[in-house]
Amino acid sequence: MTAQVKLEKKVLSENDRLAADIRQQLKQYGVVALNFVSSPGSGKTSLLERTLSALKDELNIGLIAGDVQTENDANRLRQAGGRMVQPLVTGGACHLDAKMITRVLPEFDLRRLDLLIIENVGNLVCPSSYDLGEDMKVVLISTTEGDDKPLKYPGMFRRSSVMVINKIDLLGTSDFDLERVKANARQINADLKIFEVSCRTGEGLESWYEWLRSLVGNNHQK
Ligand code: MG
Ligand code: ZN
Repeated sequence: MTAQVKLEKKVLSENDRLAADIRQQLKQYGVVALNFVSSPGSGKTSLLERTLSALKDELNIGLIAGDVQTENDANRLRQAGGRMVQPLVTGGACHLDAKMITRVLPEFDLRRLDLLIIENVGNLVCPSSYDLGEDMKVVLISTTEGDDKPLKYPGMFRRSSVMVINKIDLLGTSDFDLERVKANARQINADLKIFEVSCRTGEGLESWYEWLRSLVGNNHQK
C-alpha cells in the first residue's frame, strides 16, 4: 500500500468512528437525518427553501448548510422560515466530513428536532465517501445536467437511497431524457426511490413532503 492510500484509509476510518457517534446521538433523540448531495446548481438550497416553508409548522427541522465559502445559502434558508439553521463553511474543502458535523451539532437542541437536513457541498465525487451519521443520502439531479450522471458518478448513486429530479418544468428544452436518467440510475441502484419535482413551479413537491412526513412519523413510532 502506498503512503497516500494508507493515509486516506486512516482518515476514512476516523471519519466512520465519528459518524457512528453522531448516528448514535441522533438515534437517542429520535432525529431522522438526511445528507443532501448533488452537483453545484442542481437546486439543493431551492428544494430546502420550499420544504422549510411548506413544513415549518408541522415538523421541527434543523439545517446544516455546507458551502466552500459564504453563508448565502444559510441566509436564504433562514428567510424561508428556517429557525434552526447552522452554516458550515469548509473554507476550501470540497466535502463535509463527520468532524465538521461534530463541531456544529451542539448548536442544536436535539430533543426538539424531528429532522436534521445536512446540505453537503455541491460535488458528486468525494461526499460519497464521507459518512456524516445520516440515515440516508438524498441525491439531486436537475434536467439541465446530462442524463448520464448516474453512470459517471456511480458511487454517489449507489450510496444514495433517494434521487430527486429537479427542474422538470424545463423538460423538452434540452436533450435530457427523463426515462433514460431513471433507467441509468436504476442500473446503478435498483432500490433508489425517485421523485420528480420543479422547485420553481411546485410540481411534484407534495409527494416529496408526504414522504418526509411519513419518514418522521415512522421514526416516532419506533
Ligand atoms: Mg446550496
Ligand atoms: Zn472533497
